[in-house]
Amino acid sequence: MSFPTTWYSQTSVPRAARPALNSHEHCDVCIIGAGIAGLTAALELSQRGKRVIILDAQHVAWGASGRNGGVVSPGWAQGSGAIRKKLGLEHARTLFQMSAEGVEIVRRNITELALSGCAPSAGTIRVKRYDDRAGVKAHIDTMRRDFGYELNFLDTPQVRERAHTLRYFQGVEDPNALHFHPLNYCLGLALAIEAAGGRIFEQSKMLAWHREGADKIVTTAQGSVRCQDLVFCAGGYGGPELQKLSRAYLPIATYVVLTEHLGDAIKTVLDSGAAFSDDRRASDYYRVVEGDRLLWGGRITTRNEQDEQTLAAMLKADMVAVYPQLANVNIELAWSGLMGYSTNKMPNLGLLEPGVWACTSFGGHGLNTGSIGGRVIAEAVCGESARHERFKPYLLDWNGGPFGRVAANAIYQSLKVMDFVQERLRG
Ligand SMILES: Cc1cc2nc3c(=O)[nH]c(=O)nc-3n(C[C@H](O)[C@H](O)[C@H](O)COP(=O)(O)OP(=O)(O)OC[C@H]3O[C@@H](n4cnc5c(N)ncnc54)[C@H](O)[C@@H]3O)c2cc1C
Repeated sequence: MSFPTTWYSQTSVPRAARPALNSHEHCDVCIIGAGIAGLTAALELSQRGKRVIILDAQHVAWGASGRNGGVVSPGWAQGSGAIRKKLGLEHARTLFQMSAEGVEIVRRNITELALSGCAPSAGTIRVKRYDDRAGVKAHIDTMRRDFGYELNFLDTPQVRERAHTLRYFQGVEDPNALHFHPLNYCLGLALAIEAAGGRIFEQSKMLAWHREGADKIVTTAQGSVRCQDLVFCAGGYGGPELQKLSRAYLPIATYVVLTEHLGDAIKTVLDSGAAFSDDRRASDYYRVVEGDRLLWGGRITTRNEQDEQTLAAMLKADMVAVYPQLANVNIELAWSGLMGYSTNKMPNLGLLEPGVWACTSFGGHGLNTGSIGGRVIAEAVCGESARHERFKPYLLDWNGGPFGRVAANAIYQSLKVMDFVQERLRG
């Protein structure tokens, strides 16, 4: 399948051509999937002296990692309140700190590996769509007191100075978060892995795998890899070849559009370099790229069928509902991508059986979590830490089998209704 046409692919650094696997290879660790999770795991393993092979069914960062919103912030797809409720404060704090470490992995890799074209910019602002001063302040206090994380409060006038819409009220600013060009980041990681001795094969889908003693054998259409450890990082794009892991997540589609250049008119919309999102479960998220274009993401569905024009119209309607001043703006690009979601909204991260690891299902919050996930698995493979054990309560939750998609859509619809009711009651 060819590379999707997105703003990222149109502005990417040159993409190296990589061969398909057509031989029988050996390595220490074979990684399935060259998204941010697989690439980070491979880099961390290579840096620890492991011989690594990555197989991707398509290309490096062809999946969600090369076409997302580009926002890197602490947290998981599941909210910290729900994690705390399930696991208690101490465990929730450890997981939160790991998610923040994921942000640092990205930031440090950009600098230390001198990755080009990543264009990191600081800051996110998460806004309320209804008046809730006390709730926002309470959230900031909780994050400081219980999770040791500092956020800034923005009152409604401060939010509206930055985002010119009456739809928004108070906001939470995170100056430590960043947004960037995720495709260029992944392409840079791939080169760094190869420089460290790792090998990457594209258009090399894992069709099946089996054990031979302690070894695992992965087969593709024209070759095979024999390895000691096997790591599944297939995101929302894997299939039955992942065996029991394929029953522990659901592919969920989400969408991004890009406006034409707005020139000075961008200042009538946004006057901030931060990435914005609202705090609904099905949130709008957006940021300015190239100085005067809006890259706008939102919506989730269980099907990924919309054509480009329908997508553009759908997201433009969302955009205009927040910023009526954008009514006459053209959408120049629209694309979709799949995320892997477990029903508990936490990753499948850890040991599936001896020497076989899961590092996947990062949902809509995968840039930091896929990064820490890759590191945690590398540490576990090398016997350096048992941090993966922290994710055991979430590993391999059943996805609802043949009813999974129906179940996911029902959950999604009910969340949308809850957002709507909450806004009407408070607004
Ligand atoms: C439109 C969109 C916007 C998003 N915005 C954000 C955001 O702003 N911030 C954020 O943190 N997260 C965001 N996310 C989520 C984030 O992008 C993902 O969680 C993350 O990129 C997942 O990374 P991954 O490595 O697990 O999977 P992917 O990047 O999807 O990579 C999986 C790879 O596995 C390969 N593969 C699958 N099966 C096989 C097989 N059998 N053999 C070989 N290869 C295989 C695929 O070809 C693919 O390249 C967004 C996602 C989307 C789709």
